Amino acid sequence: MSIRIANIAKTYGRPGRGRTRALEPIDLDIHDGELIGLLGPSGSGKTTLLRIVAGLEQADSGTIHFAERDVTNVHVRDRRIGFVFQHYALFRHMSVYDNVAFGLNALPRRERPSSAEIRSRVMQLLEMVRLQAFAERFPAQLSGGQQQRVALARALALKPDVLLLDEPFGALDAKVRQELRRWLRHLHEELHFTSLFVTHDQEEALELSDRVVVMSDGRIEQVDTPDALYRQPANRFVFEFLGDVNRLEGDVRDETLTCGEARLAVPGMPDGRHELLLRPHEIHLSERDDARAHLPVSVSAVVPVGAEVRLELEADWLGEPWLASVGHETFERLDAKRGKRLFAHPVRLHRFDAERPQTLSPVCAS
Ligand code: ADP
Repeated sequence: MSIRIANIAKTYGRPGRGRTRALEPIDLDIHDGELIGLLGPSGSGKTTLLRIVAGLEQADSGTIHFAERDVTNVHVRDRRIGFVFQHYALFRHMSVYDNVAFGLNALPRRERPSSAEIRSRVMQLLEMVRLQAFAERFPAQLSGGQQQRVALARALALKPDVLLLDEPFGALDAKVRQELRRWLRHLHEELHFTSLFVTHDQEEALELSDRVVVMSDGRIEQVDTPDALYRQPANRFVFEFLGDVNRLEGDVRDETLTCGEARLAVPGMPDGRHELLLRPHEIHLSERDDARAHLPVSVSAVVPVGAEVRLELEADWLGEPWLASVGHETFERLDAKRGKRLFAHPVRLHRFDAERPQTLSPVCAS
């Protein structure tokens, strides 16, 4: 089911009593079967937008269409939506089976499937989330991750056209979150509904979404695939929000940027004071400088994180330390322990002080 959000705006409060503009007029087209992540810092309007799509909140202006159907003034109960919230919201006094069957049992008699059909649908859903053996348990007898799988199965029991999830995995630890993301992806592919989920976790949004909607201050900053967002951020906000960022500020003259004793060739950049940004993995480290880059740093902290090692780099010419991520092999080859002096060679640099964002790719030393 496609969703068309057109000119939706929302202000909370009454005139003269402190008003909050939660959403600027927003347009967004979601395709049938897409899994869309709404990503942004707290207060950026994600939940408000989700609640308006759900019909739990009234917009001040604009329209919402589910495919051809204008649902702007349709009651939440008639929108064919499934919900999953951060806190499981399961009925504690009901078994897992009854929780999943609840929506089906509550249908008016003429729409309600037979008990045999209900049983078969509930068991099929429980099998999909691998909880068929737990049908008779109560929520309190399940782990947080299992409870959220029940919540997913329950939300899907009525075959919703649209599934809305509000920070669904926010209360769970990292490993369980990871597992639940896989579940959601898997269910999505199997059952082909359209989903919109809210998160403030970049990794979650990038890993799970077909497209991510990055929001700030009630506005949409960019809508793109995770890959495009990461590689071609529309502006500085998106770039900074999507991961760790290192800064290099200096004076450019004759295509060379200088900053204290540091020097870097920046072909094509106009003269003047400029700021360049780069990601931790866009720094190549070596034991030598070269004609293009003289950026001496010393390693001030070493943190191994899974497949990579994160190095904190300091230098007199740097304001804030840089963060670099390297593979274990490079780490060992460079013997990059604390106090080691190395040279940084940017592999890519991003510039947002021009009219349009630019990416520079200096040829780096090997
Ligand atoms: P997010 O989900 O991105 O954290 P919200 O949509 O919850 O953002 O909030 C957007 C803005 O609207 C915030 O400034 C928030 O304080 C405000 N807001 C949200 N709900 C209400 C409400 N019921 N009454 C007044 N202000 C609200």
